[in-house]
Amino acid sequence: MAKQDYYDVLSVAKNASDDDIKKAYRKLAMKYHPDRNPNNKDSEGRFKEVKEAYEILSDSQKRAAYDQYGRAGVDPNMSAASAQGFSGFSDAFGDIFGDIFGQAGGSGRRTGPQAYHGSDLRYSMEISLEQAAHGYATQIRVPNWTPCKICNSSGAKPGTKPATCPTCHGQGQVRMSQGFFSIQQTCSQCHGNGTYIPEPCACCHGAGKVRETKTLEVKIPAGIDDGMRIRSSGNGEPGINGGPNGDLYVEIHIKPHTVFERDGNDLHCQMPIAFTTAVLGGEIEVPTLAGKASFTVPEGTQSSKTFCLRGKGIKGLRSSLPGDLYVHVQVETPVKLTEMQRDLLRQFEKSLFEGGARHSPQSKSWFDRVKSFFE
Ligand SMILES: [Zn+2]
Ligand SMILES: [Zn+2]
Repeated sequence: MAKQDYYDVLSVAKNASDDDIKKAYRKLAMKYHPDRNPNNKDSEGRFKEVKEAYEILSDSQKRAAYDQYGRAGVDPNMSAASAQGFSGFSDAFGDIFGDIFGQAGGSGRRTGPQAYHGSDLRYSMEISLEQAAHGYATQIRVPNWTPCKICNSSGAKPGTKPATCPTCHGQGQVRMSQGFFSIQQTCSQCHGNGTYIPEPCACCHGAGKVRETKTLEVKIPAGIDDGMRIRSSGNGEPGINGGPNGDLYVEIHIKPHTVFERDGNDLHCQMPIAFTTAVLGGEIEVPTLAGKASFTVPEGTQSSKTFCLRGKGIKGLRSSLPGDLYVHVQVETPVKLTEMQRDLLRQFEKSLFEGGARHSPQSKSWFDRVKSFFE
């Protein structure tokens, strides 16, 4: 839907004088003002259009931009300039209606310093894999700010007072020209307070608050993973000028485990097994995060074989079932043999030789591959 030309909205000629524009605006704004047309959507819409047209055409810079580029030159949605650049309207509006409708204009100029959200804090916490798997309750010490008792939070040395900021003359805002637009910005010297403290309080150095520490109870939920964060609402830095506090984020780091490696909700462990167990098979005992478990190694188990123990992993924060434990077995070569053991093995070796390649399935297939490679 194409928007109407601003001159048409105000029913004035393209070369209308500032005075004509103001008169036309005053007439139409009175006609469509919401206070005179309660619950009338149509006049509300017209009122907004009139307001917008006047906002542009009453400002010589914006009017020039509009004449040259059309709405693209002035539309806050189409240009990079922020909507703050158009704050001139509320002033003009206040001038005209202030006396008739009282506080008409609604979103009028801001009074008092700007409120800011306090900064978020990050707390890095190292926990063990067991603590991550089973949950963990602990206490941490975090910074806390309390009002300064020496200066009663004013930040000024007792007996002195904050003074008006010389940069913004107490407005908290400064106007800056940027291209076609005049942009209102928060004063950088006083951060919007409008005042500064010539003689800061010696106790809080002008902050009006003193940093202390407080103890927080933290409950780490079972199943938490490395790098996850827990938010503690409102326990960050305090808000400025009445703004809300920031939040505290506890960031979890899981220490490497001596036995297990975690992969999501699954656990992996390397486990040496005796040469004879690998050959003959047998029951072996494995550690899990919930105590010991056992499983059967079948006869003829090769090294690096992986066994999966269902449900012996970690139950993740959002999963309904726990993960699995993967046991990677390593067949251990016996060392430091006695002469008798060597003899037994030599006899054993001889019997294997007599049995042929069927005792060594891996070697057989390997030598077959090497052979075909050289042919
Ligand atoms: Zn200032
Ligand atoms: Zn103080």
